[in-house]
Amino acid sequence: MPDYSPIDFAVPFFVALVLIEMIWAWRRRPQAYEPRDTLTSLAFGLGSSAAGLLTGAAVLALSLWLYQFRLFDFGAEWWMVWWAWPLCFVLDDLGYYWFHRCAHRVRWFWASHVNHHSSQHYNLSTALRQSWTGFFALSFIFRIPLTLLGFHPAMILFVGAFNLIYQFWIHTEAIGRMPRWFEAVMNTPSHHRVHHATNPIYLDRNYAGTFIVWDRLFGTFQQEGTERIRYGIVRQLGTFNLFWAVFHEWIGIAQDVWRAPWRHKLSYIWRPPGWTHDGSRDTSDMIRARWLERHGETATDGAEKPVPNDNPIAGREKPA
Ligand SMILES: [Zn+2]
Ligand SMILES: [Zn+2]
Repeated sequence: MPDYSPIDFAVPFFVALVLIEMIWAWRRRPQAYEPRDTLTSLAFGLGSSAAGLLTGAAVLALSLWLYQFRLFDFGAEWWMVWWAWPLCFVLDDLGYYWFHRCAHRVRWFWASHVNHHSSQHYNLSTALRQSWTGFFALSFIFRIPLTLLGFHPAMILFVGAFNLIYQFWIHTEAIGRMPRWFEAVMNTPSHHRVHHATNPIYLDRNYAGTFIVWDRLFGTFQQEGTERIRYGIVRQLGTFNLFWAVFHEWIGIAQDVWRAPWRHKLSYIWRPPGWTHDGSRDTSDMIRARWLERHGETATDGAEKPVPNDNPIAGREKPA
């Protein structure tokens, strides 16, 4: 991220909203926050910003170089073309959907993105849990098409920052459901809770950044049901050690590639997380398929059935 990102200006609002949510959680839902978990998330946020400062200039330089090969030209005063801004935002959000989908389906990208999912709690501080290794994973390549289309790299960075800011408020259990029209078009706390869940039926669903329509369009949408959500990753970290939290999947890839027979080595990098050449681990597809076999398509909790109460949180609150 270069200097003066809109995200810098949003930080005070992030902090204020986290504090408000903490007060809500303290009174209504004590298990929503865990001090060491929140500290880990904050460390992730700070480290990710630092990594962004170090690598942002390189990404910007590369983008500016690629910009000369653009397909369309908005002219020297590209920032004056008002409709280019919303268009760029929507197309960047579409690009984000595909980046995010690949980040869950290709282990190389997952090794970086897993950082965002490693918390077993779901609150606004979880939103700050951003990857340190996004640059190393080459995540920025997903924005290159927009540059080649003709959007100026500065415009892409700007709308991308707003997309990330939008995604902050949806990391909460304090909001049940938004109005129906809003849930239909926009990504919401309800949709994104599904994305952070490890319940088999919720695995690899709702990749949206700002607009949930991409998931509905590309067949990855899942409605939130009433069952209790288990947050985190299929194989939980089980530690608050920051070094392990940041690098565990990269270490896992290195170990697997080292041990695997030659003809399988690359598969441990580009196939889905959990894939093994001897079937000794599960991918999310396998976990999901097994669950559906046992419960049947119609049991996809909440997918077609009306939800019994307005506030899904209240429904899951009852202790087991
Ligand atoms: Zn994700
Ligand atoms: Zn998230």
